Amino acid sequence: MTADFPGTAYACLRFMEAGFRDISGDCAILDAEILLSHTLGWPRMRVYAEREFILPKRECVALYEAYLRRRCGEPVAYILGVQEFWSLEFEVSPETLIPRADTETLVEVSLKVLAPERNPKILDVGTGTGCILLSLLHERTDAYGVGADVNASAVALAERNADRLGVADRTTFVQSDWFDELVVPDDGFDLITSNPPYIPAPDIAGLMPDVREYEPMSALEGGSDGLDAYRIITKQALAYLKAGGYLAVEVGIGQSGDVIALFEAAGFKNVAVNADLAGLERVIIGKKS
Ligand code: GLN
Repeated sequence: MTADFPGTAYACLRFMEAGFRDISGDCAILDAEILLSHTLGWPRMRVYAEREFILPKRECVALYEAYLRRRCGEPVAYILGVQEFWSLEFEVSPETLIPRADTETLVEVSLKVLAPERNPKILDVGTGTGCILLSLLHERTDAYGVGADVNASAVALAERNADRLGVADRTTFVQSDWFDELVVPDDGFDLITSNPPYIPAPDIAGLMPDVREYEPMSALEGGSDGLDAYRIITKQALAYLKAGGYLAVEVGIGQSGDVIALFEAAGFKNVAVNADLAGLERVIIGKKS
């Protein structure tokens, strides 16, 4: 079954890289390294130091199966069941979006505005794996958080991630269509975050096949212009924030102008945009006066 796999781990790495080129593009070698290191329980770079290492039979079979799944287009994170985000490991499932490095910008911006607050209360809507909220709670050990998601299996997954990261005692997850099932805490939240679905419906067909065919459409598609979720969130968030609290959201490429306008129309002040590491405008933040 693994007949076309070469013997050494290093040769398998190169074989997989070649096989992934048309699916993973520039990430072909990275995907191959991640699958190999996960299969062997090795640090990612060890294969380069031990080029003569022969893959044991069991690992060889497991790696070959992972290779075939990736060749069919399945994202590496779904094959492994985990994805790193903010240097933490999150369980993922096909019910939720795979956390993206871009979204770390939202975590950074959030930490900055929370810096002066003691025991901040954070709400994350459309929480998915919980990666945004749980990274914030992991950093800010005095914070308390609520995460909402419309999908019951996302809620269960986020709860498992809270356990895994040791922050479950400071977290509540609620199944809720945006704010529908949420109660306003007495003094309001200090911060509301969201990385909502924002791909315009007509652009879905042009997404990479591994995104389009494997990640949940409900986590990707944001209506005809991609802005549906921002309309709901900017309108409803104010009621859940304390005076001086913030709303911070991730936006897609080219959406910052429209989303700033929605923040301002809803009454947010000091609306600002932050770029990600690639220099793209990624996060919009506004303050409740
Ligand atoms: N908040 C989650 C994340 O950033 C899910 C986002 C989504 O499903 N659009 O990964």
